[in-house]
Amino acid sequence: MSDFYYFDNNATTAIAPEVFEGMVPFLTEHYGNPSSAYGFGKRVRIAVEQARSQVAALINADPSEIYFTSCGTEADNTAIWSALRSSKKKHIITSQVEHSAILHMGENLEQQGYGVTWLAVRSDGTLDLAALEESIRPDTAVVSLMWANNETGVLFPIEKISAICREKKVLFHTDAVQTPGKVKIDVKSVPVDFLALSGHKLHGPKGVGVLYVRKGVPLIPFQIGGGQERGKRAGTENVASIIGLGKAAEVAQEGLIEEQTRVRAMRDRFENRILELISGVRVNGNREERLPNTSNLCFTGVDAQDLLAALDAQGICCSAGSACTTGSVEPSHVLSAMGVSERDAKSSLRFSFSHFNQESEIDRALEIIPKVVGSL
Ligand SMILES: *Cc1c(COP(=O)(O)O)cnc(C)c1O
Repeated sequence: MSDFYYFDNNATTAIAPEVFEGMVPFLTEHYGNPSSAYGFGKRVRIAVEQARSQVAALINADPSEIYFTSCGTEADNTAIWSALRSSKKKHIITSQVEHSAILHMGENLEQQGYGVTWLAVRSDGTLDLAALEESIRPDTAVVSLMWANNETGVLFPIEKISAICREKKVLFHTDAVQTPGKVKIDVKSVPVDFLALSGHKLHGPKGVGVLYVRKGVPLIPFQIGGGQERGKRAGTENVASIIGLGKAAEVAQEGLIEEQTRVRAMRDRFENRILELISGVRVNGNREERLPNTSNLCFTGVDAQDLLAALDAQGICCSAGSACTTGSVEPSHVLSAMGVSERDAKSSLRFSFSHFNQESEIDRALEIIPKVVGSL
C-alpha cells in the first residue's frame, strides 16, 4: 500500500487490535442468543453483562444505568423522545452546532408542532450560559447539548450546564459521542440525566451505541418489540459489537492520559507549524476549551473540496465539514453558526488525530500540506 495518513478520527476510528480479538469468538463459536435459557446462551449473556460493566466504569455509572443501542444516533433520538413522552411537555432546548443526530431530530420535531429553542454560539464556538438559563420554560421537556463538537472539538461546560438544568428541574441530555478517551466523563460528579456514546468513535466497532440513563429518570422505549435491555430497547443484542464496545471502553479509559498529553502535543505541533508555514491560515474555534485531538483550520482563499481531493491523492484523509454532509455544497452549519463567512467555511478542513498516529506521520503531513496548498 502507498502512503496513508488517517487524520479523520472524529468521523470514525480504527478498531483497536484487542477489541477485534475480543469480538471474534462471538462471531464464531459463541453464537448463542443471550436470552436463551440454556448454558450456551447464558454464557453469552454473562459476556454482554461484563461489557455493560466495562462501559459503566468508563463513565463512573452503575451497570443498570447502561442501555446498548444500534448507534450514537439512536441513543440521541431515544433520550429526546423519552423526555418528551415522559414529561408530556412540548418544548426542547438545543444548540445550532449539534450533530445531525440531534439537529435533524429537532427539525423533525418542529415539523410535528413541538417548540425548539436553537441556542446560538459565540464566534469561538462557545456557549452563553445566561442565554441557556433564560430559554428554560415551564413547558421545557429537555435540554440537549453536546459535550464536544465533532467539527471544531470545542467543549461545552457540561458541569455548569447540568447544574443549571438540575436547579431548574429540567431533564438534561448530552451527546458525548466525541468525548470518551479524550476528556474524563464522571456521571457521579456531573449530574446529566442522559448521555449518548458510540462504539466507532472510540476504536470500537460501528453499529453499536450506548444510552446512559440516570437511576430514577424515566426511560420510554423508542424501539418496540422483545424484552431485551430490561424491556427498554427491543431487538436481539448485537453481541459481538457490544463485546467490542466493552473492550474499547476499557482501552479508552487506559488511554486518557496519553490522549491528553502525547496526542495533544502532536496536534499542537501540527497546528502551530501549519500556522507558521502557510500564510492566511486561521484556527476555527476556541483553542483552550477544545478536545486534545481536533484541529479545524481555515485556509483562506483555498477551496476546501479541492484541497481535500489533492490531499487524498497524497494519501492524507481529513474532512471538510462533517462527514454526514459531505457531498452537499452547503457550508458547515457549525462554522456558519459561529459567524464564519460562507467563503471561509468553504475553505476549512478538519484534522482529527488519535493515539494510533505517529510523529513521523505529522512530519510527512507538514511537508505535503504546504506544497499542496501552494499548488492550488
Ligand atoms: C458520530 C456522531 C454521532 C452519531 O453516532 P453514530 O454511531 O454514527 O450514529 C452523534 N454525535 C456526534 C457528536 C458524533 O460525532
